[in-house]
Amino acid sequence: MIYIGLDIGGTNIKGAFVTKEGKITHRFGFRVDYSKTQEEIISLIGDSINSALKEKEIEKEEVGGIGIGCPGSINSKTGICEYSNNLNWFDLPIVAMIEKATGIKAKISNDANVAMLGEAKFGVGKKYHNLVLLTLGTGVGGGLYLNDQLYEGEEGKGAELGHMVIDPDGKECTCGMKGCFEAYASATALKNMTQEAMEKHKDSLMWKQVEGDLSKANGITSFECSKKGDKAAMEVVSKYEDYLAFGIINYCNIFRPEAIILGGGVSSQKEYLTDEIEKRLKEKNYGFKRTPSVKVLVSNLGNDAGVLGAAALVM
Ligand SMILES: [Zn+2]
Repeated sequence: MIYIGLDIGGTNIKGAFVTKEGKITHRFGFRVDYSKTQEEIISLIGDSINSALKEKEIEKEEVGGIGIGCPGSINSKTGICEYSNNLNWFDLPIVAMIEKATGIKAKISNDANVAMLGEAKFGVGKKYHNLVLLTLGTGVGGGLYLNDQLYEGEEGKGAELGHMVIDPDGKECTCGMKGCFEAYASATALKNMTQEAMEKHKDSLMWKQVEGDLSKANGITSFECSKKGDKAAMEVVSKYEDYLAFGIINYCNIFRPEAIILGGGVSSQKEYLTDEIEKRLKEKNYGFKRTPSVKVLVSNLGNDAGVLGAAALVM
């Protein structure tokens, strides 16, 4: 028996045949032209699944199901992508359309939920029962794995951990509220903090790092210069880590996870980031008094988290 995992992204659609043990036996996919209608794209996905099965001579009866990870507001109960800002999709019954095109049962969830499931089943979260995943990218995505299960909540919408308010009078968030965690802990927030610090500190090493071009500065700039001892960069990184730890302490208090898994661009800093976050959590007793300790880990499935987690949806 194999399981098909589909990872729908802003640029590519990636598919994989996955065994129950999480081994990828075949990959397929294509670059998406989002000027095509949403229906045309789903029809192309159906075709690509059918031709991959044909190529590997796999009968439909040998497929346990098709799991789909998709960015946006996904109702996993109805199988409908209600709205995806990234893909410009509205009210698209993806599950029904894929099932019709392939004759195979399908399931969908949002991309952060799917990444959470991938890490919990096959990745760095494998030995844990209670996990929180945060993807630190353009925004902050969140996934919850509680009591050995993916937590999807009402309508299967998942957890919008990025939109927890940490300062009601704080920075504007993309969602329209003020002071969301995302406005402080995303890679975008780090980039903004980095550029603000550069404008204030014209002598900072960060200017050299970006060859004098402020627009080239991103989250990595401050981390790289912080490692070289640049004071302004160290301040940015330390402030960013304070915000990130502050949010994580809230999640520790609410969900009592055994570990927090960090993914997305900023997590590429690995121990340089996680050691500092763990230190801050420890200083605050992981939230409340006598709270069990919480590990801070970095996702280790990389680009495969999407397809593996999607396949796990139907296992
Ligand atoms: Zn928000």
